[in-house]
Amino acid sequence: MDAALGAPEKMAERADDLTPMMAQYFELTREYDDSLVLFQVGDFYEAFCGAAERVARLCEITLTKREDSTGEYPMAGIPIDNAESYVETLLDAGYRVAIADQVEDPDEVSGVVERAVTRIITPGTLTEDELLGGAANNYVAALARENDRYGLAMVDVSTGDAYATGSDSLATIEDELGRFDPSEAIVGPDAPTDPFECMVTPYDERAFTAERARERVGRYFGPPERLLASAAEVRACGALLAYAEYTRGGTGVGEDGQLAYLNHLTRYDPREYMVLDSVALESLEVFGRRSVRSSEGLTLAEAVDETACAMGRRELTDWLRRPLIERDRIEARHEAVAELVGAVRTRERLHERLREVYDLERLISRVSRGRANARDLNSLGSTLAVVPDIRAAIEDSDSRKLRALHDRLDDLPEVRSLLSEAIADDPPPELTEGGVIASGYDETLDELRETERSGKAWVERLEARERDRTGIDSLKVGHNSVHGYYIEVTDANLDRVPEDYQRRQTLKNSERYYTPELKEREDEIVRAEQRADDREYELFVEVRETVAAESERVQRLADALAQLDVLVSFATVAAEFDYARPEIVSEGIDIEAGRHPVVERTEDAFVPNGASLDRDDRVMIVTGPNMSGKSTYMRQIALTALLAQAGSFVPAERARLRLVDRIFTRVGASDDIAGGRSTFMIEMTELAEILEHATEDSLVLLDEVGRGTSTTDGLAIARAVTEFIHDEVGATTLFATHHHELTDVAEQLPAVRNRHFETSREDGEVVFEHEVAPGAAEASYGVEVAGVAGVPRPVVERAAELLEDSETVPLADEGGVPARTNGSGDAERGHEHSDSMAATETDAIRERLREVSIAETTPLEALRLLAELQSKLEAE
Ligand code: ADP
Ligand code: MG
Repeated sequence: MDAALGAPEKMAERADDLTPMMAQYFELTREYDDSLVLFQVGDFYEAFCGAAERVARLCEITLTKREDSTGEYPMAGIPIDNAESYVETLLDAGYRVAIADQVEDPDEVSGVVERAVTRIITPGTLTEDELLGGAANNYVAALARENDRYGLAMVDVSTGDAYATGSDSLATIEDELGRFDPSEAIVGPDAPTDPFECMVTPYDERAFTAERARERVGRYFGPPERLLASAAEVRACGALLAYAEYTRGGTGVGEDGQLAYLNHLTRYDPREYMVLDSVALESLEVFGRRSVRSSEGLTLAEAVDETACAMGRRELTDWLRRPLIERDRIEARHEAVAELVGAVRTRERLHERLREVYDLERLISRVSRGRANARDLNSLGSTLAVVPDIRAAIEDSDSRKLRALHDRLDDLPEVRSLLSEAIADDPPPELTEGGVIASGYDETLDELRETERSGKAWVERLEARERDRTGIDSLKVGHNSVHGYYIEVTDANLDRVPEDYQRRQTLKNSERYYTPELKEREDEIVRAEQRADDREYELFVEVRETVAAESERVQRLADALAQLDVLVSFATVAAEFDYARPEIVSEGIDIEAGRHPVVERTEDAFVPNGASLDRDDRVMIVTGPNMSGKSTYMRQIALTALLAQAGSFVPAERARLRLVDRIFTRVGASDDIAGGRSTFMIEMTELAEILEHATEDSLVLLDEVGRGTSTTDGLAIARAVTEFIHDEVGATTLFATHHHELTDVAEQLPAVRNRHFETSREDGEVVFEHEVAPGAAEASYGVEVAGVAGVPRPVVERAAELLEDSETVPLADEGGVPARTNGSGDAERGHEHSDSMAATETDAIRERLREVSIAETTPLEALRLLAELQSKLEAE
């Protein structure tokens, strides 16, 4: 970002020559020199000089000029009414935006209007609904380091969600960042910036000092030593709070700059949750789709999302991002889902009511920041009003979790009745123009409104009275904002105008008058109106502050509603798509008729598959032709584990699952052709990560490892990895491979089993059964798939024949992989053709092929061999 976004140096130096307004502008640009200052002038946010040029270019608006007594300045203005989209453009371009609002009423001051920066908009601290998607949280993160500990804090300023965690491993910190995916970060002294993929904002290092951080954390959340696990965490939290305050520009918050709605911190240990790093989240397509190819498909999060409100949607994201590993908590969720699955009417009633719930988290955050208007308070009130019904729906619940939520569904009766009494029914968005406070709430206000109303009624009757008095039938009484009330008489009737009429305004064909009496009434109306508006604003702010004082209760309620929404959503999905309640066991994974939660929605005839991985059977090698369903199968097992630990039912007929501490994935080299690194390098980096960090309790998915290199290399690596996982790591592992030779490992390692996908033939076409079966796949499937892909029939048949012959040849691999023979079907195929060829010729070719060591043959040698074989045929 540019260091000086504001004016050229010389402008700033000549401050005496500037008009007071421009002096004010340049003062602010100096103070906020790391942001783009948008400076309110009436209905516009203006930028001047260099900043103006930038804003004009980025936002595609016209660059104009401001001229005053001291000179000319380039100027670009953004209309305040739809500033959001322009601000978004500026954020996207990497700028931070400091909003300098007029903080005085221009009508009430004689000189230049005072302006102050009321907020600094940065990608991680957005609170404007227009700029935030409702479904996702938007986090800003802070990372601090002390000795060898890292502390990480994350806050969503729009909702008040705050988290802290820590570790002595930077890899763990990276995993947590992968989960929360912050959009901005600040980093303390000697903490690294490289774990961040988002914008890293330079921020005052002093905020990270132990003393300041400690004081701030204490003020917001309570004693730091009871809450947080290390000094690094305290520093990260403290600095992040300071940054959140800074971006709030010190207005709309308590005297001391405190953000009242940030009052609860969730400190968690990364080990309390299943670890899901960004590689796993991506390859399992939990929140995003991997490839363009599958862009029509759903993500896991979408597939299980039947939530009714925005808070529920964000909570669901959080549950999927942080699946539990504590059996008790998991089973409590399952129990609640089970109850809701069984109670269709309750579930539907809850869903209906939850749809009427507004985004309480964001509402209360606005209330606390002093940014909520009357409509927001009404939304809050109407949300509180549905709470009793929601509570009643789970009144007789047996589930522990639902009972606990029931007890937390506090409808804040005092706040509710205050809001329904105080706030008008259909208030305008503005707060200073009246219409926000209901009548009957405040006596003074009612009197003022009565004065105003009776004054206006008097004026309304005036027309008839004056027509009577003057005999002028066309006489009219009207009002305009400049001249106020008037009596209008056309030129033809001017001779009949009475003595007491005083001229106010001359129009083309008429004159406008007022009378002393009208003037007096008018003043009375205007005074009453002004006082009423002021009174309303005062009352409104009072009400808003009363509500703000209850923000903790509102947040607790919001949290309970969000959780309930997720449980109802899980139950709805379970009922609709026939999911089963998983049983948590201490050993092994045993799934009957499992399905892939996303693929089953798009595939007309999804074939369910079981999986059984015991302690003694924990490594499964899955073989089968391309497109037979290997990847789908492996992922459905991982997704089943993830869903179960998030608290959901699972897509299977029955599932008995051990708990998993982490899901590792290494998937499909072919899909990863991004970034400068070679795919093989990425593959090996990810593999190294897995082998280093996986434990006995992990679930490891390896899909086609070793593809990025030669067959010999790939096979050797695949084999060594399998052995290492089997002997050293002990993780439950699924390994899909095209290295058919790997299946022989099963014979040597006790806990390795082969499974394969079969194909069958129908009218000469290969049909994918998508059905997993014991044992290894037959090796010739590549040839069959070539047929499916449209390779001409004679070529396919010839290839099959060559293959059959070659397969009787032992592979001269160091691994000593024994040869295997084919099934009878293939032999028959080979037969047909050998009939048509001279026996000697066939023998010669056979002999030649037998000599070949495929593992040691380079592509060039293979081509030569092909040429040689062909010439043998032609020689005939
Ligand atoms: P592989 O990894 O063996 O190449 P995939 O798992 O990518 O195969 O599956 C290929 C396609 O087959 C999937 O996109 C899906 O449409 C379909 N498929 C996979 N498994 C099943 C199944 N169990 N039932 C029905 N269709 C399936
Ligand atoms: Mg695959």
